[in-house]
Amino acid sequence: MIDTHCHLADEAFAEDLEAVVGRARAAGVAGALCVVELTDPAELARVGRVILAWDAVRTTAGVHPHRAAAHGGNPDEVVALVRARVAADPMVRAVGEIGLDYHYDFAPRDRQRELFAAQVAFACEAGLPVVIHTREADDDTIAILRDAGRQRATGVFHCFSGDRALARQALSLGFHVSFSGMLTFPNAATIREAAAVVPLDRVLVETDCPYLAPVPFRGKRNEPAWVAEVIRALAILHGASPEAVVEASTDNYRRLFRP
Ligand SMILES: [Zn+2]
Ligand SMILES: [Zn+2]
Repeated sequence: MIDTHCHLADEAFAEDLEAVVGRARAAGVAGALCVVELTDPAELARVGRVILAWDAVRTTAGVHPHRAAAHGGNPDEVVALVRARVAADPMVRAVGEIGLDYHYDFAPRDRQRELFAAQVAFACEAGLPVVIHTREADDDTIAILRDAGRQRATGVFHCFSGDRALARQALSLGFHVSFSGMLTFPNAATIREAAAVVPLDRVLVETDCPYLAPVPFRGKRNEPAWVAEVIRALAILHGASPEAVVEASTDNYRRLFRP
């Protein structure tokens, strides 16, 4: 199995990164996509250690919607940052996480939209998939991707928290849908309904660690080893064996991100 979205360069892992990676390997996690936030110099400085600790890790490069006001909110400057990172880091396999977050609204929405569209356009030009973060912004996210569809954007809706309708729209745009430990939360019936309509050949699994630890670890610092709980939850929803979900989601990861 693959943890397709984790923040291993987050300071939450600075203390014991190697032990965290050891537990992931022991649990059968064969690889991970480590999401890298380009406006966070301290996180950027820790990426090298993550790659040294785990040779199966690949990375992303992008600017999160929460940070859309950084760099004066200038999309050209942000795209230049992403472009430079893609050129400098041979492990980069995607542009992300990028998108819209109207739940927290940490940056003005028009800035978020401009920055999202600019990074999607760059990803298309670079031939890279995108890792999308969208929260309470379904219509605008779909509109920007539909626009980018003419440029053939591909990628994943990460840590899916929407409903069946959004999952179907993501699928119709050719995107994959990634589920996190939220699937195991008692109050997440809507997400489980959505997961049931995403076919196994379009599904990915992730932890989004250090956040969102699954049941029975809820409230603790999350880590890649626990992606197994997401596999278990998906298997039940699909009436499939955990092995079948591991195989399908691993194939999907390899096809999409070419690790
Ligand atoms: Zn996210
Ligand atoms: Zn994330």
